[in-house]
Amino acid sequence: MQETTPQQWAIAIHGGAGAMTPETMDAAAVAVHEAGLSAALEAGEAVLRTGGSAVAAVAAAVAVLEDDPHFNAGRGAVFTYHGTNELDAAIMDGASRAAGAVSGLTRIRNPVQLARTVMEAGPHVFLSGAGAEEFAADHGIDPIDPAWFATPERLRQLEELKAQKSGWFDAGLKYGTVGAVARDQAGHVAAATSTGGLTGKRWGRIGDSPLIGAGTYADDRAAAVSCTGSGEQFIRAGVAHEICARIRLGGQGAQAATDAVLAEVGAMGGVGGIIVVTPAGETVFALTTPGMFRARSDSTGRREVAIFALD
Ligand code: ASP
Repeated sequence: MQETTPQQWAIAIHGGAGAMTPETMDAAAVAVHEAGLSAALEAGEAVLRTGGSAVAAVAAAVAVLEDDPHFNAGRGAVFTYHGTNELDAAIMDGASRAAGAVSGLTRIRNPVQLARTVMEAGPHVFLSGAGAEEFAADHGIDPIDPAWFATPERLRQLEELKAQKSGWFDAGLKYGTVGAVARDQAGHVAAATSTGGLTGKRWGRIGDSPLIGAGTYADDRAAAVSCTGSGEQFIRAGVAHEICARIRLGGQGAQAATDAVLAEVGAMGGVGGIIVVTPAGETVFALTTPGMFRARSDSTGRREVAIFALD
């Protein structure tokens, strides 16, 4: 009989859902994205392996992806219609259901760090724009030159979008968002999500990523969830909270609940991907796009990095 190792910790991350396929991504791009995912997973694993909290693990993993210019969060974020980078992030602790969120940041290197500071040191849950950056300064987080976020490739993508004159923003969802969910050795779960939003966004548009209950949610009684995809539909479906509610009240398994809610998003015309971890350490991936940058590992030795839907 095969022996089973008790699950002590588990982590899953994503680097965004999108239109990537084996035909449209060359080997070098695959390698660079897989290396980035692996590095982020390692940062989260290092926290969990040494008994750190799920909150610290998701913050560490997301910060690595924010600093990696290949993912749409922090450095390498997509451009707004006006050629700026505006960053959103959220984090939630499933043990206490404490949460922190920030939006419209232009000068904070690691938005997830600021979201965590809002959660742990502030009286509020959600801060935006100049006020959020003032809160950062009050808490010792120094602003940086916005040029840090800008990459030539993202600028090219904005110019391409504008040349197409096809719509208000990039509804084609090519570039993703980043997120992490984790279960620590104490049995607590946490979730974090960080994004530059959608290429060409304007009018102060904010997606689902920093909205507690839409793109990010964690509850020790159910699961931790981080989403990527068509933010408008994810907001309307209240995706992350809805998945937790179905697990907690509806008795659905994590995979079934996630698939069902993503199908509801689909019925509204949205696509995307979701990562989930339960307090038992089960990790779940679901996606309705051709790809989602993703990875997961746990204390049993399981480790996976994947990009395309059929991997
Ligand atoms: N959900 C993000 C947003 O709407 C975008 C993405 O995940 O690609 O801001």
